[in-house]
Amino acid sequence: MALVVQKYGGTSVGNPDRIKNVARRVLATQQAGNQVVVVVSAMSGVTDSLIKLAKEIHDMPSEREMDVLLATGEQTTIALLAMALHALGAKAASLTGAQAGIVTDRAHTKAKITNITPKRVHDQLNDGNVVIIAGFQGETPERQITTLGRGGSDLSAIAIAAALKADLCQIYTDVDGVYTADPRIVKDAQKIQEISYDELLEMAALGSKVMQARSVEFAKKFNVVFEVRSSFNDNPGTIVKAETRSMEDVVIRGVAVDKKQAKVTVAHVPDKPGMASRIFRAVADANINVDVIVQNVSEAGSTDITFTVGTDDLKKSLVALEKIAREVGASGVTAQDNIAKVSIIGVGMKSHPGIAAEMFEALAANHINIGMISTSEIKISVVIDLKDADKAAGVLHEKFELSKK
Ligand code: ADP
Ligand code: ASP
Ligand code: MG
Repeated sequence: MALVVQKYGGTSVGNPDRIKNVARRVLATQQAGNQVVVVVSAMSGVTDSLIKLAKEIHDMPSEREMDVLLATGEQTTIALLAMALHALGAKAASLTGAQAGIVTDRAHTKAKITNITPKRVHDQLNDGNVVIIAGFQGETPERQITTLGRGGSDLSAIAIAAALKADLCQIYTDVDGVYTADPRIVKDAQKIQEISYDELLEMAALGSKVMQARSVEFAKKFNVVFEVRSSFNDNPGTIVKAETRSMEDVVIRGVAVDKKQAKVTVAHVPDKPGMASRIFRAVADANINVDVIVQNVSEAGSTDITFTVGTDDLKKSLVALEKIAREVGASGVTAQDNIAKVSIIGVGMKSHPGIAAEMFEALAANHINIGMISTSEIKISVVIDLKDADKAAGVLHEKFELSKK
């Protein structure tokens, strides 16, 4: 008997009919002779409305209480899906993240899974149940509720598949798989049959929200092969696995767009050793991820340090930066959030020179101004005006011939 882990995202469980649809799919998988563990997200829109509700009460709510609040979204879905399975005559039991043995660190709203002891999952499976686990949540060693960052149900599913040594891990969503670009932005984007962990990790980290970046990192670390596919049809999806030789034949695998980026500048930082380290330490201590960094000479003896952060972290960044700017004697902190980051990704870039030049030429030919640039072995990102983001994605998708089957 094989053990299958299936994850269903928010749209897939977005209303009662869709929950019933998931129940039928899950039951069919069990009836085909498998043990099934299901990880679910909150119903679509629920997490967002809980966040909105919290902000109406407090403009910077306590992160501990945010986690208590947000975890309710997934808890609703596990119970409803268990009921839907019961209605079909199946045996099913729901478990919260904590009940499933998911232990995390103490970083509220962005916790990392440190350990999983899935004893209750095994017990319930052995009793013939479909086991339904709330995604996106866990608990600290002190038994405080934590959540795993936006899109975190993907991480729950991958981590549970690893802990249970599942035979199959399937991520069901509202698109047929991973595409060469977000199909909502680039109309002729193509489904990718196979993609390496590293490529999907970059795509996810650079804004392709089809998978949470951390979940892909986790899958890579524990070598969890998984498939991204649709809960609305039976089309084969995208297989995500370690890089194989033939993957390098494709120079650019995909284009990613991140519209939730903000640019922060600390102006007139004294030009002496230790300043950047103090600024970025303050940001790191606030648990904020920084991406593209640029340092410019502003006038003799001082520099401007500019970098990007996620818009969700902007407020928190400004609080941390205004304090450190005063301490180091910088003149002030400014922020701009009408920017976007557009990136091209592919392991084949390693062996093909000149890709950056081609990318910049294509943008220039379309009058798209580049504000900042950052590169790694397998990606090139540019920061541009938000209004140009979709156009840039289309231009690059065409330039690198990603619409060809
Ligand atoms: P779920 O609720 O199932 O977790 P998400 O909304 O988090 O689903 O992710 C699926 C969405 O990701 C798709 O609807 C699509 O618009 C978006 N997306 C962004 N980039 C890509 C891509 N390269 N391939 C497929 N989907 C993408
Ligand atoms: N409900 C959470 C979110 O919206 C987690 C998830 O859907 O994966 O971010
Ligand atoms: Mg998601």
